[in-house]
Formats: sequence, structure tokens, C-alpha cells
Amino acid sequence: MSYDKNNIFAKIIKGDIPCSKIYEDDSVLAFKDINPVADIHVIVVPRGEYISFNDFCLKAGSEIVASFFKRVQKIAEELNIVDSGYRLIMNHGSDASQSVDHFHVHIIGGKALGGLIPGDIYTR
Ligand code: AMP
Repeated sequence: MSYDKNNIFAKIIKGDIPCSKIYEDDSVLAFKDINPVADIHVIVVPRGEYISFNDFCLKAGSEIVASFFKRVQKIAEELNIVDSGYRLIMNHGSDASQSVDHFHVHIIGGKALGGLIPGDIYTR
């Protein structure tokens, strides 16, 4: 599978379609998910062309990978959800229902999120 330069996040990065931006620098962009599953639901993407978490780890250098995840932590801090807690989700491929083929991290928080998967042993 090759990277599709016309995927929706590529278009957001290029500025071809709008987003509700919460952070940007030369290598990272963060914006609100258009269909939030919690009070806070932010998408963080590297500007580089990586299809998924797997592709990002295989193709990006260690410094880029490390600085990306450092930035994800910083954004969570700026969202004021470190004390209350948050969940990171990175879907890779079809079994995970990845729907946008540009690597992204979901930061989800602002409410009690329950178990990892509805009905799993951790659901309270
Ligand atoms: P995934 O299933 O991990 O690929 O997640 C893709 C996410 O992108 C979903 O949560 C969508 O709601 C979100 N999404 C799709 N289009 C947009 C958009 N134009 N702006 C913000 N988020 C979007």
C-alpha cells in the first residue's frame, strides 16, 4: 500500500480543507476530531507522509518518532487532562478500523472512558 496524497488529513495539512486547529509547528499538527467521542478528542499528526503507526515506526528516524510522542504528551498537558487521565489510540489497518490512511494519534479525555473495548473485562 502506498501513501495517498489526497487523504483527508493530507488535505488538512496542506490547508485545502479547514480544521479546528489546537497546535502546530513545522513537523506536527493537532486539531479537534470532527466526530468526537468524548469532551476532548484531538487528532495529532506528523506532517510527514506516513500511512499508519506501523509505517511511521518503520520509516521515520528515531528522533522524529521520539519528538512526535513528546509533543503528544505536551499537547495532553496543555489540554489539562494529565491529572484526570486520558487515552491514546492509534489504529493501524483494517482490523483496527483505521479510516484515514495518514498516521494519527487520538487523544481522548475529559470524561471517564470506561473499559478499553465495550464489554471487556475492564468495563466497570
Ligand atoms: P481512525 O478510525 O483512527 O482512522 O480515525 C479517523 C478519525 O478522523 C475519526 O475519528 C474521524 O472522526 C476523524 N476525522 C475524519 N475527517 C475529519 C476531519 N475533516 N476533521 C477532523 N477529524 C476528522
